[in-house]
Amino acid sequence: MTNSTPENFNENCLFCKIGAKKIASKLVYEDPDLFAFEDISPQAPVHILLCPRKHFEALHNAPPEDQALLGKLLMVAAKLAAEKNLLSGYRTVFNNGSGAGQSVFHLHLHLLGGRNFRWPPG
Ligand code: AMP
Ligand code: ZN
Repeated sequence: MTNSTPENFNENCLFCKIGAKKIASKLVYEDPDLFAFEDISPQAPVHILLCPRKHFEALHNAPPEDQALLGKLLMVAAKLAAEKNLLSGYRTVFNNGSGAGQSVFHLHLHLLGGRNFRWPPG
């Protein structure tokens, strides 16, 4: 996972294509492991999606060797939350599986902020 076309790049995956810049997005962060971009249908004033470049569908598909990668995803989300002045309240969400509302089957972390949130979520 050191470049924009990892070995398990999935030609049929929207987020693999966004990470490889084959499809345009409003990128807000990238490094050799991760990329982050603005959600096309924002549910809050700030709504960013963070993805590992490596393609796997959901949290339960992440192989054990990617423990550090998942940790990095969370650390970068916190960094972006600070940069966007969201520290008074922001939400980080993984939707895993269609029953939880997942619609793009490349693991991604939603970072939402800039408004108040209710609990429990819908
Ligand atoms: P989920 O429903 O958790 O799988 O989240 C998928 C997210 O991807 C949704 O919030 C969509 O609005 C967002 N999305 C879909 N297509 C694009 C795109 N081309 N660029 C940016 N965000 C997208
Ligand atoms: Zn993918």
